[in-house]
Amino acid sequence: MPTSAAETAHPAAEPILKVANIETYYGPILAIRGVSFSVPRGEFVTILGANGAGKSTILKTITGLADLQKGTVHFEGKPIHNRDPDVVTRMGISLVPEGREVFPFLSVLDNLKMGAYVRRDTDRIATDIEQVFEYFPSLRKAARRAAMSLSGGEQQMLAIGRALMSNPRMMLLDEPSLGLSPRLVGEIFTILARINAERGVTLLVVEQNASVALKTARIGHVLEMGRIVMSDTTEALMQKEDVKEFYLGLKAGGVRGTRRWKRRKTWR
Ligand code: ATP
Repeated sequence: MPTSAAETAHPAAEPILKVANIETYYGPILAIRGVSFSVPRGEFVTILGANGAGKSTILKTITGLADLQKGTVHFEGKPIHNRDPDVVTRMGISLVPEGREVFPFLSVLDNLKMGAYVRRDTDRIATDIEQVFEYFPSLRKAARRAAMSLSGGEQQMLAIGRALMSNPRMMLLDEPSLGLSPRLVGEIFTILARINAERGVTLLVVEQNASVALKTARIGHVLEMGRIVMSDTTEALMQKEDVKEFYLGLKAGGVRGTRRWKRRKTWR
């Protein structure tokens, strides 16, 4: 029987990441309310949600930056919930945090080298820095400059480059479009698609910018107030009236629409 390339490469078809019924609190505040989803290996998955929906908390819970009180997270079949962030990185997951968080006083080159701190194959680091410069040519030009002197877009590129330097099998990105012009957002998502296709890195991107995320990713989940309310291929999600209206702004919803959305219990 013919099989797809993905099935041939990974016959077990085990998801690379499995999040099951997680609940995460900040003090008494329940931020994530029983979220479950799986990410197939090699996929490009997005989680869409408004401000405060819980997108960052999901990524922080996966990477050990926030403790979960309930549920489990498995990466390549191994439990990673409530492990130290450092351990999670060494296992093969790399986070590009919201707001980039590059080391401001270090040069671009040193920021990239810092990203490689978990690696043993130090002989490949120079080749991988070259690869980052190939993805983001403006970083090559700025290689010796302090990261704080870069533009917002370049800092985002540096944050992605630094995450790549740990040679991850999976990258998590927290709102990479934040504060960037539409042109730069387009450039960054084009490179993310290349990283996914050429290097086979599995991507999980949380975004408020539904338009670019739905166009680039292949599978999407919609998160509302700490719960996943819809999951489908991005192609199918883009056809749904609710997504068009509230995330893509393709219908005149306005304030009335927003109120209706908040009241609605069932998504279609
Ligand atoms: P944003 O786009 O604003 O980052 P988000 O979807 O990533 O939104 P989270 O940052 O995960 O949302 O926040 C989820 C909920 O948890 C929100 O209600 C937020 O106010 C709350 N929250 C987040 N961080 C903390 C914190 N450190 N202490 C208390 N509450 C928090």
